Amino acid sequence: MAVSNEVIAESFSLLAKLMDIHGENPFKIKSYSSASFSIDKLTEELHAIPREKILTVKGIGPSIGKQIIEILDTGELPQLHEIINKTPPGVIEMLRIKGLGPKKISTVWKEMEIESIGELMYACSENRLMLYKGFGEKTQNNIRDTITFYMRSQGSFLFAEVEGYVHTIHKLLRESFPGHPISVSGAFRRQLETIDQALWITSVPISDLTAYFQSNQFQIEEEKPTELVVSGSENIKLQFQIVPPESFHTRVFETSCSDAFLEKWNQQFTNLVPTDSEEMIFKQASVHFIPAPLREDPEIIEKAMQAPLPPLIKFSDIKGIVHSHSNWSDGLHTIEDMAKACISQGFEYLVISDHSKSAFYANGLSEERIREQHLYIDELNARLAPFHIFKSIECDILNDGRLDYSDQILSTFDLVIASVHSNLKMSEEKAMGRLLTAIQNPHTRILGHPTGRLLLSRAGYPVDHKTLIDACAEHGVVIELNAHPRRLDMDWRWLRYALKKKLMISIDPDAHSINGYHDIHYGVLAAQKGGVTAADNLSSFTLKQMVEFISRKRG
Ligand SMILES: [Zn+2]
Ligand SMILES: [Zn+2]
Repeated sequence: MAVSNEVIAESFSLLAKLMDIHGENPFKIKSYSSASFSIDKLTEELHAIPREKILTVKGIGPSIGKQIIEILDTGELPQLHEIINKTPPGVIEMLRIKGLGPKKISTVWKEMEIESIGELMYACSENRLMLYKGFGEKTQNNIRDTITFYMRSQGSFLFAEVEGYVHTIHKLLRESFPGHPISVSGAFRRQLETIDQALWITSVPISDLTAYFQSNQFQIEEEKPTELVVSGSENIKLQFQIVPPESFHTRVFETSCSDAFLEKWNQQFTNLVPTDSEEMIFKQASVHFIPAPLREDPEIIEKAMQAPLPPLIKFSDIKGIVHSHSNWSDGLHTIEDMAKACISQGFEYLVISDHSKSAFYANGLSEERIREQHLYIDELNARLAPFHIFKSIECDILNDGRLDYSDQILSTFDLVIASVHSNLKMSEEKAMGRLLTAIQNPHTRILGHPTGRLLLSRAGYPVDHKTLIDACAEHGVVIELNAHPRRLDMDWRWLRYALKKKLMISIDPDAHSINGYHDIHYGVLAAQKGGVTAADNLSSFTLKQMVEFISRKRG
């Protein structure tokens, strides 16, 4: 098939942009982009022009003309192919973000070492962009908004991205169809960390639901006798399963279990019969109630047959903010403002853990600045008592597993959080070596975001979770459950094993602003899935318990 001018123009335009990202010869870049512009304006298709005449078309010239002929003959531009091969796909994808030109993308990739849009989004939330030339707060906010918009069109969502929307839709439905049972179910009800589709179970007749959504400008995606799928302003698909009122609770139950859980349940118990509530389903089976977020691994059924499950941790069980950044490194607010926000939100203490010196991109603290910060915290503590600010650091785990300061400096902190932030591309062997060395360091009290993953954006370095948990348990190191909704790292799927090993976890917001405290909510939801109780969580310690924990040293 003949290659159109549009395709040829786009090839040169992309080539120019990629060369710009790679910092290649500006004259060449200019000639490719103006050729692209000229080709786009041509009224005649290039494939219809005799080959030898192409070289003389206005705005094209002999060298680009030869490349055009190559595209027409082979369907490919080798230079483009070559440069695409040496650019990470996520970096190329950044070109779709409005407001991010090749120069900025080059900074993002080469200097910030960011290779995907999701990572870039996370860097915005850590205020990392503002530290680079050409990126002010306004640019950072623009980029964040555009990425949010872009990601909404991609199909999968963080729980946090759809939470408010799902609640709003639910409330509207309850108000519009008061006589009918309606329940959110599926992945959202199970509090999974990412959501592809929101699901409701209801007895509202499908014709009424369809009419309701049509009149409210939703798009009807699918309509079957007992199922409706619509989408609205947020692009996530909203699915409705319609059941007779008497089957409502059993359907809600069935759709808020993992497949493995439901299969085991159906093997073990007789068929589900209509009931008045989900609780009745458990009563009839002589099993203590299992909340939807825990209906994952079928092992839990056995446990709930023997005894009631212990009460899960809740937001109000969090007594202090552990792991937060101030404007001394890459946070937005002063320590005083962050402390005052803690006080007004009812927290008993704040653990300030700015970045360490190797994290130069985050304005990490030199030894000198640590001394200054500690004096400042002493002064604040005298003023804000009984509230207390603990002196901490989020200390980089260096390439060989050493921490970022001397023992002498490390011993001046109340609490050291050790995290990996650099050279994330490594084998499991390398990653484990690095982590285990850091865990053995007697100054490490908390292992921060243990895999470095960013949900829907970056897998994180490979780790052997069992060995990691065993080592932390052995050395009395707490593993963080980083509550940022894009991290939720450590993964809740490993929490049960961790609790079995008597490991302490800590639900930490990793806050880079006062707003960041709210992320604890997502950490709590993830912790609930792992069966965590308040007693298993360090940030549930009262101030008094925290002081004791710190003075005990570890192990
Ligand atoms: Zn970190
Ligand atoms: Zn942090």
